[in-house]
Amino acid sequence: MADGGPRMTTIANTAVFDGHDLLPGRYDVRVDGATIATVAPAGVAEPVGPVIDAAGATLLPGLIDGHVHFLQPDDFTALLDGGVTSAADMATWPPEHLAVLRSQSRGVTFRTSGAPLIGPSGPHSHMPGLTEAVISSPAAARREVAARVAQGVDYLKLVLEAEGRGGPDRDSARAAVEAAHDAGLRVVAHASAVGAIELAVELGVDILTHAPLDGTVSPPTVARIVAKGLVVIPTLIMMRTTAARRGMLAAYDSSRRFVADLHDAGATIVAGTDANSAPGAPATVPHRTGLHDELALLVDAGLSPVEALRSATAVAARLFAWDDRGSVRPGARADLLLVDGDPTARIGDITAVRAVWLAGEATTAP
Ligand SMILES: [Zn+2]
Repeated sequence: MADGGPRMTTIANTAVFDGHDLLPGRYDVRVDGATIATVAPAGVAEPVGPVIDAAGATLLPGLIDGHVHFLQPDDFTALLDGGVTSAADMATWPPEHLAVLRSQSRGVTFRTSGAPLIGPSGPHSHMPGLTEAVISSPAAARREVAARVAQGVDYLKLVLEAEGRGGPDRDSARAAVEAAHDAGLRVVAHASAVGAIELAVELGVDILTHAPLDGTVSPPTVARIVAKGLVVIPTLIMMRTTAARRGMLAAYDSSRRFVADLHDAGATIVAGTDANSAPGAPATVPHRTGLHDELALLVDAGLSPVEALRSATAVAARLFAWDDRGSVRPGARADLLLVDGDPTARIGDITAVRAVWLAGEATTAP
């Protein structure tokens, strides 16, 4: 870092995955302050500022995790260590805690749903401090949506269960979706059972998260997901961890099959982990390694490594309306991840983190 001068760095002789594809050849990528200045063929221009020799490595956009939970500052440190520079929080309450997290986020930017909307007796109703989030009538649903809108959330999180499993009743859930849409908010439905996924699709939610452990989602429902343009954040690592923890790993086949069918049908899939550090959570997925594992599971379910990487970069950035990131191109925010090897050929190489930059600042020693 030059004393008092412009903060420039050149990442030299690197392969580049630009958020969409692996670019042919090697590049010198110049970072100027918080922004990517140039992406030029290697060796053409004189390097500027400190030069990081990235031979044998691949530069990617900083990863985006489409489903996380935050409890403490260490969660953000762990994300950064794994190369995750942006994230979508899928349930934080109360609002005061959100303000504390924002002040502790170490520069990781995140979108949030605030507190989720839940049913009267489902598994989520036992979480402390969530009694106000229970919607047991359409009027309560509208009131809770209005409260989230006033709080300034980025989307609504609606926890749906299969019929008779304690989730919001159909009329209340429908009222929540309609009120959110009237307010210009998209609805993310937690749906981890076949019945819940069918209900979510019928209600017209915008984003599905999780995947079933209890059976196969029917081909007509998969077709409706594609036709309606729903985005799916399957959190395979959470489903697999949950199944293993219950001693029924075979149930994970349902989750994997859902993603395989979605992929075959051309659905939009975004990578997300459900990473959390809450002691009482049904299963723990670590913030540092969760997204690496998710990418490997997406590839195992049929995505190509490039498709999996897109789902954690450009496609995720588009979903969460971050048009300044998710790609390596001049003018983009310099949230960057440098890994040894080539994750577009071997997805496991994403774990070989060499350096991470957040708005042009190295968070780990390159
Ligand atoms: Zn979650």
